[in-house]
Amino acid sequence: MLVFATDLDRTIIFSKSFLPAGCADVTLVERKQSESIAYMTGAARGLLKKLARIITVVPVTTRNREEYDRISVLQEIDYKYCILNNGGRIYINGTEDPTWKEIIARKTAALGKTYDQILQEFLKVFGSDELRRYKLSGDLLWVLSVKDYFPADRLECFRQYAKDYGWNVAATGKKIYLLPLFINKRAAVVYLQNTYLADVRLVSAGDSILDQDMVTGADIGFIPRHGDIAGLKRSNVFTTVNTGLPAGEEILENVMAMAGRKEGCLIGDDTF
Ligand SMILES: [Mg+2]
Repeated sequence: MLVFATDLDRTIIFSKSFLPAGCADVTLVERKQSESIAYMTGAARGLLKKLARIITVVPVTTRNREEYDRISVLQEIDYKYCILNNGGRIYINGTEDPTWKEIIARKTAALGKTYDQILQEFLKVFGSDELRRYKLSGDLLWVLSVKDYFPADRLECFRQYAKDYGWNVAATGKKIYLLPLFINKRAAVVYLQNTYLADVRLVSAGDSILDQDMVTGADIGFIPRHGDIAGLKRSNVFTTVNTGLPAGEEILENVMAMAGRKEGCLIGDDTF
């Protein structure tokens, strides 16, 4: 069985800033009140819907439940499993997996620094002037929006410090995440595999440092060319030729080709 565990934002769905000028084949897949938030190409949307019919598609995202539920295209597809909060929560048919929840709670209680303590440490080192806002997303990870890119060397220094207390620090674009090391996408995918999806061939896709272990740990991994981790050299990992929305479509095309070979389904078959 083929399983496609895929990141969402900047991998298969994209914000306005990625919209190519004059591209006609664009479809809106997320709205927040009256605001248009995320897009795919029409072809990519069709591919995702077809894929969900023939293989196991697992959306894997750092979004919390509320942010996730806004994505309309996911309400149009059939899927059983999804991983939210960067791996902090796993849902089976819409219900949170209780065992995984318990594992996360137990490890959280054993952290070397609490959520409040790690945030205070961060603010002590970096100050709050450069922050736009911060929130504790889904009670599982701090998401800090910053005004400008933070110096990588200073962040790395703090990351090394935080590691000793069980914490990870990850920057992608103008967001910085403070989250326990055990809350990661790869760990959640491995749990899902071991518990529910034995003997599968795992394909994964993602663009950021938060996806790296999930992508490299899969049998085959895809990274969009515009991604923070693009160009990663691994024999099982491929970077797309395209950037932006067409990169998402290219990833889905590749997975469809793999699914088609495996399941004997033709890519051009429109009966799905
Ligand atoms: Mg992403």
